[in-house]
Amino acid sequence: MIVCFDIGGSAVKGAVAHAPDRIVPLGRRITPLDDFDAFVEVLRAVIDEAGGAPERIVLSITGVVDPETQATKCANIPCIDGRLLSSELSQALGLPVLIANDADCFALAEAGIGAGRGHRIVLGAILGTGVGGGLVVDGRLINAAGGFAGEWGHGPAVASHAGHPPVAIPFYDCGCGQRGCVDSVGGARGMERLHLTLHELEATSEAITQAWLSGDAKAARTIDVLIDLVASPLALTVNITGATIVPVGGGLSNVEPLLELLDQAVRARILRRFDRRLVVRGECRVEPGLIGAAILGLSGDAA
Ligand SMILES: [Zn+2]
Repeated sequence: MIVCFDIGGSAVKGAVAHAPDRIVPLGRRITPLDDFDAFVEVLRAVIDEAGGAPERIVLSITGVVDPETQATKCANIPCIDGRLLSSELSQALGLPVLIANDADCFALAEAGIGAGRGHRIVLGAILGTGVGGGLVVDGRLINAAGGFAGEWGHGPAVASHAGHPPVAIPFYDCGCGQRGCVDSVGGARGMERLHLTLHELEATSEAITQAWLSGDAKAARTIDVLIDLVASPLALTVNITGATIVPVGGGLSNVEPLLELLDQAVRARILRRFDRRLVVRGECRVEPGLIGAAILGLSGDAA
């Protein structure tokens, strides 16, 4: 038995996992942001609620583990940022602890029981607040022990001109310290940033997509530029990894016409020809973080 956690900036969600398709949710708790002892106690309470003694626990976090130092980088939960989280929690709880990135967990979930079933190479792509990704090959997560494989959202990769006809787009600063990352233009915040640049209009990503779907020309221009900027780095990532399916998660994945456009643009730019959808909506709509963490924990990878 595994206890898995999806740990976000507002809530800690826990579950008992007996198999990837047999996951029983436990109570949801508030994430202690600044008090590590309180953070440990929340995990302990969830483990107690699970009953029995788990073989290990697995945490899906919105951060990464540095493969050299094993330090956790997690900007939205200060009390775990910079810590050797796996060993510190293991010591405090007396259990083996695995830490995984949430986009990696999404990719594992899609490869295991979602849209990636039957595919050897699955690139899970997150179009949420920002852009992320994870890579699963033959059911195993690449970089299960920490690292950045599949992170197509960062690096100075976006074009300086985009759209039909092309318009100049500035290289925006990114939270990772670089400029011109896909993350800075491809998620919800990126869409809002592009809309502001192109039209000097402030609007939420929800309002922009709604306006686009209602035929608004300015919103359509924003979407056109966004798709053009995002499709090329994604196509390159598909070429490099050999992925044969790209399940998409995150808030923007709920906008199916957006995914259709992205799919067409990516398929037009990759070397391999697919006569079917390549970029698809992820099928694990509920708790992919927990499902992926469960798959990781049950497989014993990186244990
Ligand atoms: Zn970046």
